[in-house]
Amino acid sequence: MRGQGDKMSTQQAAYLVAKEKVEIQEVPVPVPGTDEVLVRIKTVGICGSDVHYFREGRIGEQVVTFPFIVGHEAAGIVAETGPKVKGLLTGQKVAIDPGVPCGKCEVCLTGKPNLCLKVRFLGTPPIEGAFREYLVMPAANLIPLPDNVTLEEGSLSEPLAVGLYATRLVSVALDDKVTIFGCGPIGLSLLLCARLAGASTIFASDLIPERRACAKRLGADYVFDPKKCDPVKEILGLTQGKGVQVTFEAAGQPETLIQAVTTAALSGRVGIVGIPIEDYWQIPSYSARRKELAFFNVRRSAFAAEKVIDLMASGKMDVKGMVSHRFPLERVAEGLQLAAEYRDGVIKAMIDI
Ligand SMILES: [Zn+2]
Ligand SMILES: [Zn+2]
Repeated sequence: MRGQGDKMSTQQAAYLVAKEKVEIQEVPVPVPGTDEVLVRIKTVGICGSDVHYFREGRIGEQVVTFPFIVGHEAAGIVAETGPKVKGLLTGQKVAIDPGVPCGKCEVCLTGKPNLCLKVRFLGTPPIEGAFREYLVMPAANLIPLPDNVTLEEGSLSEPLAVGLYATRLVSVALDDKVTIFGCGPIGLSLLLCARLAGASTIFASDLIPERRACAKRLGADYVFDPKKCDPVKEILGLTQGKGVQVTFEAAGQPETLIQAVTTAALSGRVGIVGIPIEDYWQIPSYSARRKELAFFNVRRSAFAAEKVIDLMASGKMDVKGMVSHRFPLERVAEGLQLAAEYRDGVIKAMIDI
């Protein structure tokens, strides 16, 4: 059913037209199919992966063909529903789950749709993303937002879902000591989820003062500035040389993975969540082997966004302060540039549309 809102026949969309170049173009508003919904996009978070496409035009084998729209951390208002859609009403606030897995392959059928090779993921070539006014998604990908969860929090549910999924995958348990290297939105999500999972002590490290301050506010017990001290030395000192049960690499930097290995305790678990620019990681193999460390690579998330929305609605997960900057659609390039250069204390930059 078509709503009475501000639905138009054309819309503005922010296209990457070359590396580091964005242009606003006027394009038709799509029409939802039988089981689909047209969403008036209101907020889209800028993610590290968007920055990779903006800067390098690729993440590994996923290469952008210009012009292309990025953006996948989206929330908005239902503008129109396809004839067979049930349970979603025009005007309703929704968060968008950006991944559409095939639903039929072995990993889909065994509960790992995040690994589906046929997944269509918003803002990942060749599927155009959400930096635009209107988007059609399958109804199954929309998560209704309760009244007390904002659209911005709906957008944050995507990176938060990665944190929750990773926390589950690495089995952070009651009383574990946890270290998080990198306090960007993903590191902060890990921090919130590790805290909720019952971690006893959380150590966090980041170069950016605003990110360290946010980590402290969100519950880190110790926060380190790697420019001023050696976090490895500090963490080992604070754990009587034993290290911690769980370490997370959430900066995508070669040295932070080495720090994660070095600070892990005997039989520790290392979660690798950051996306490095180079294809190869280096790890200190003697240390990893002697300690018999388990490594967990984390690919996006599965079955986690609804959970973080519930946690936000019930007041158990407070993400205030995570959004540090806001830009209108016509200034997407500025937001991407800011995030790319880690300027101005950026944590999460949000596009308001
Ligand atoms: Zn993301
Ligand atoms: Zn599949």
